[in-house]
Amino acid sequence: TQSELVARERMAALGELAATMAHEVRNPLGAIANCVSTLRRLPSQRSSPPEQELLGIMSEEVQRLDALIHGLLDFARPAQPQPRPEPLQPLVEEALSAALRSQNTGVPITVRRQVAPGLPPALVDAQQLHMALSNLFTNALQAMPVGGDLQIRIEHEQGAGASRLRLSISDTGVGMTPETQQRIFEPFFTTRAQGTGLGLPIVRRIIESHSGDVAVESAPGLGTTFTVRLPCD
Ligand code: ADP
Repeated sequence: TQSELVARERMAALGELAATMAHEVRNPLGAIANCVSTLRRLPSQRSSPPEQELLGIMSEEVQRLDALIHGLLDFARPAQPQPRPEPLQPLVEEALSAALRSQNTGVPITVRRQVAPGLPPALVDAQQLHMALSNLFTNALQAMPVGGDLQIRIEHEQGAGASRLRLSISDTGVGMTPETQQRIFEPFFTTRAQGTGLGLPIVRRIIESHSGDVAVESAPGLGTTFTVRLPCD
């Protein structure tokens, strides 16, 4: 419809602006990060707790800005996916390992897998899917700050329409209220102090550009399940 078209054009213009901004902010930010890390290593600073503390804060805030800029670039640069037939489970495992490495919190996480036998390959752009899945796993791990269970299910969905692979990722984490759930795909919506609120908008954009869909089910205090459906061969 007309209003969808206007909304899409507006998003495209916004995306371009965001990409330009992100690009321009990156270089000075890198320079600041270098200065801070040099200052932290100066012999005169080592014995000076107040300065060390302030430099520590600067370094954390710079890292936060850097994450925001990266997220903004990923969000604003919607590359056209190059789908190929790819077995889904290895992609899922790689994304999970990447998320576990980046979170590296040492809390006990039990991973369970339930993968249907004889699955056809998914039709996906492996690089883009990696980003989407690692965002989902990172969120699941962050929702379980004292540990918990992570359940991965992959099934083949053969209905009247096209045949699809259904991947669900369930955590036993903090869960979400219905109000939170309604907003999670909005750019910049976050409930986390260190969050950018770009993770799920990126997930949704990637999955939808593959003609797939993503859905969420959640209960506060019980956990969350994200279900992604993707085209397959
Ligand atoms: P960020 O992780 O930077 O906050 P996201 O877009 O990835 O941004 O997520 C937005 C919000 O959705 C999070 O701040 C959190 O409130 C909620 N959320 C996402 N995944 C989960 C999950 N698995 N369990 C609980 N809450 C979640």
